[in-house]
Amino acid sequence: MKYAVLHRGDELSKQLSDKFHQLASEHRLVQDDVQPEIVISIGGDGTMLQAFHRYMNQLDSIAFVGVHTGHLGFYADWKANEIELLVKLMSEHAVKDVIGPRIVKYPLIELSINLDEGISRSYIALNEFTIKGVDGTVVAQIDINDQLFEMFRGDGICISTPSGSTAYNKSLGGAMVHPSIESIQLAEIASINNRVFRTLGSSIVLPKHHHFDIYSRKQQRLLLTIDHINVPLENLQSVRCQVAHQKVTFVRYRPFPFWNRVRGAFLGYDEQL
Ligand code: NAP
Ligand code: MN
Repeated sequence: MKYAVLHRGDELSKQLSDKFHQLASEHRLVQDDVQPEIVISIGGDGTMLQAFHRYMNQLDSIAFVGVHTGHLGFYADWKANEIELLVKLMSEHAVKDVIGPRIVKYPLIELSINLDEGISRSYIALNEFTIKGVDGTVVAQIDINDQLFEMFRGDGICISTPSGSTAYNKSLGGAMVHPSIESIQLAEIASINNRVFRTLGSSIVLPKHHHFDIYSRKQQRLLLTIDHINVPLENLQSVRCQVAHQKVTFVRYRPFPFWNRVRGAFLGYDEQL
């Protein structure tokens, strides 16, 4: 079993990372930062976002697992004191073990960004993609499946994955979506609604094989965010967003249902966590 560890950089996460390496060598696990089979993220959900983007080109061969050194996370759902158990399970069970469900796969967002002069870029997001105005109101046309849907004016637009629905999307009043539902959700960021300007107002959930196109409808400086990554742009033409073909794999050595994580993180009924 080849593994890599990525930690948040604070003292506790660093100590835990050192401890992990020590335990791993005792269990004859091999550190391989270039082609790991399991990537252990130690810190918070933000650390998992960094781990995901670091290994984004190897999603088919990597499973992720998150240990939290602060509060319970959605991706970081192992406690610091469970690290011995985690190493033991890793040494006993290959990720591709057929006995028992050892992994879970979550949907991602695929983005194709078109800039002036025919330049295009593509990205994958684990949590969400947002488009926000730098100087003021964003003006954008939103199409669904190549049909005009609405003209958006406001602070911005957030398109999230199911596992990202508990992050930025939740602050915007979006719905919590179970990660078994292959979908993307659009939530508005402070849309302007009056007799002249009109948007739907509610969040929209699209299934796989449907897509949003967002067209920039004025000369505007925009800030695009892809998870924790900021991309300032002045020359955006359009962005296509859809459920990605690829998925991200998480190690699931023991059950920890999504709804229990939602309850634990937001409602605090954490006696079982
Ligand atoms: P951050 O400022 O530390 O993140 C904000 C909070 O979101 C942190 O508490 C983070 O947890 C948590 N978080 C990240 N992914 C989550 C998920 N899937 N479900 C529930 N909570 C989640 O910055 P960051 O750590 O680099 O994370 C970037 C993310 O922050 C973005 O992807 C976006 O979702 C979120 N964000 C939220 C808002 C908002 O709610 N108004 C605004 C901007 C960005 P940890 O403390 O464990 O890292
Ligand atoms: Mn963070």
